[in-house]
Formats: sequence, structure tokens, C-alpha cells
Amino acid sequence: MSRSLPNTIFVTGGAGFIGSCFTGLCAGKGARVIVLDKLTYAGHKANLEWIGKGKYELVEGDIADSKLLHALLKKHTPDAVLNFAAESHVDNSISGPAPFIETNITGTFRLLEESLKYWKAQPKAQQDAFRFIQVSTDEVYGSLGPKGAFTETTPLQPNSPYSVSKAAGDHLAHAWHHTYGLPTLITRCSNNYGPRQFPEKLIPHMIQCALSGQKLPVYGDGGNVRDWIHVEDHCAGLWLALTKGKPGEVYNFGGHAETDNLSLVKQLCALLDKRRPRLDGKSYAEHISFVTDRPGHDRRYAIDDAKAEKELGFSRTYTDFAEGLAATVDWYLANEAWRQTVLNRKRSAA
Ligand code: NAD
Repeated sequence: MSRSLPNTIFVTGGAGFIGSCFTGLCAGKGARVIVLDKLTYAGHKANLEWIGKGKYELVEGDIADSKLLHALLKKHTPDAVLNFAAESHVDNSISGPAPFIETNITGTFRLLEESLKYWKAQPKAQQDAFRFIQVSTDEVYGSLGPKGAFTETTPLQPNSPYSVSKAAGDHLAHAWHHTYGLPTLITRCSNNYGPRQFPEKLIPHMIQCALSGQKLPVYGDGGNVRDWIHVEDHCAGLWLALTKGKPGEVYNFGGHAETDNLSLVKQLCALLDKRRPRLDGKSYAEHISFVTDRPGHDRRYAIDDAKAEKELGFSRTYTDFAEGLAATVDWYLANEAWRQTVLNRKRSAA
């Protein structure tokens, strides 16, 4: 059964790809949303503008800043905290793991610590209604062979500095429930796609490379398999976890759309060939180039989300990956100004 809907929601990392989508969803349901975001290279005010002025409040700051967290929680008295804030790109975690440890582990710890202090100070009814959702990834489960899928009870075997830092955050969120009683839940999701994803991630990166006449770099043999979920479906799942989920539980969300990287890049090229044909009449696929594989590259991820379907009533709106991908390509083509804003910020942050 659904609980009463949360009035005020504290969203960390809400200026990023998924957090901004979730902020829009909450605002659309009439909730007051307070976004805390450090506005790193991956976070942009522009990601929130579509939601409309007055529908959310953006505070620039770090989830590792205890004093700021204390003041914000006291001032806004949220019914829920959703932690999206993270360093999120595996390649960056390999070349420079320190910010991953600082944000994904220490930052999550600070957020849990301040949320616990805040929660303890609330009256019983508010304590019962409060939720802390740790937004996590299927990458914490490690790598799969050609068959099978991760369930919520699959042992964690993270392999990259990114997934290790996310797994540590998950363990902290679990401990804060088990030890202190804070009503935390953990969600783990497969690869997201859709509008406003920073162009370091596979889909927008390939679109950006293609449109700027660069090679399309595919790691190794391109045979690494990922499951893809539309960001709006992920956010709908998070809303269900928030309103129907049980504290202490883990919920997986997947897209039921497995594909290998090379097939995905070829699909993107075919979509671009139709929508933005190259001046020389050739296919973008001619620019695909195989590059040295990412160190420790996990081969395959797949998610079993039967628990979320059964216990939360989770289902996907984007059931046809080809259609969702085409709509996503259309969004990036139609939002040239957004792409330039984000790319300029990337350059100035570098
Ligand atoms: P993103 O990189 O687009 O956004 C992360 C946001 O966090 C940015 O706005 C950034 O400015 C902010 N941030 C970073 N460090 C911060 C700090 N110390 N304090 C406050 N804000 C900070 O990432 P995303 O793709 O939107 O992912 C959001 C969450 O979902 C992450 O926790 C990620 O691990 C998880 N996740 C992502 C995917 C995916 O496919 N993108 C899949 C599963 C889970």
C-alpha cells in the first residue's frame, strides 16, 4: 500500500542526468524539491531549467559538507533524502579515483550522519514517514558470464574504483538502517539513457563524436554487454521505492534491453544516417574505431527486477529500446544549445 506522499524532498546531485529527471518528476507530483549539487563538470543548472522556475530550489554545495547539510535539513525539514550525488564515470575513476572516494564514500557517510541526527530530532510520525534512498548501480554486483542476471541477493563483487566506491556507499546506507534504525533503502539500476546525459557516457559521447566528425571509439572488441533503461523509467521506479518500498530493502531496476556496445553504436549510426546524413553520403559507421580496452572492463551486466515488479508494481513505459533510442537521438539533435552549454562547461572545468 502507498504511504502518504512526501511533501518536501531533498535531492542530492539533482543537477546531474538522473537527479534532474527525478526532480522534474517530483515537482510534477506537487512536491517541494530542494536540490543540493556541487555543480561539478557533470552538474548543470541548465539540466533543471525545463522544470520551471519556482518548482525547485537549487543550492550549490557538497554532500560532504556536514555544516551545510545540518542547516539545510533543519531549514527545509524534508520527508525524504535521495542521494544521487556521485562521481559517476568509470573511466575517470581509473585515471583519478580520489574524488570517487571523497564523494561516493565520505560524502555518503556525511549525508547519512546528518540525516540520522535530523531524523532522530523529528516527532515519531515524521520519523516513521521519513525515507533515505541510496541510488546505486548494478555495477556493484561485478561482471556476469553469457547467462544469468543480478538479483538483490547476488553478492557484491565490484571491480572498478567507481563500483567499489558505490558498493561502499551501499554498505554504509545498509548499516545506518541496521544499526541506527534510519529508514534507508538501496536501489540498483542498469545503464540509463535519455535526455541530458553528460557526453562522456557512451550514447551522448558517440552522438557528439559523430556530429563533430570524430572517430567513434569502441572499447576492445565491442562485445561488452549492458542492459539499458530509460531514465524516466528509472525515476518512476525510484518514486515507487520512495512511496511503497520497505526500509532496509534493496530494489533492482532494469530495462530488459540488453545489447553489446558495438551493436548499440551501429544502431546510433543508422539513426544519425537518416536524421543528419553526412555531407559525403557515407555512413557514420565508417568512423567506428576499436581502441584499447578499459582496464578491468566488466564483460556483461543484466538485471533481474522481478522483486520491484512484484512488490512495488514497477513496469517500464519504454519497452522498445529501438524507439527509446531514436527519441533520445532526436532529443540531442534538437537540443544543440544544451550540448554546447555542457561542452563549454566541460572545457572550462578541465
Ligand atoms: P551524473 O554524473 O550525471 O550526476 C552526478 C551529479 O552529482 C552531478 O550533478 C554532480 O555535480 C553532482 N555531484 C558530484 N559530486 C557531488 C558532491 N560531492 N556533492 C554534491 N553534488 C555532487 O550522474 P548520473 O548518471 O545522473 O547518476 C546519478 C546517480 O545514479 C549516481 O549515484 C550513479 O552512481 C547512479 N547510477 C547511474 C547510472 C547511469 O547509467 N548513469 C546507472 C545506475 C546508477
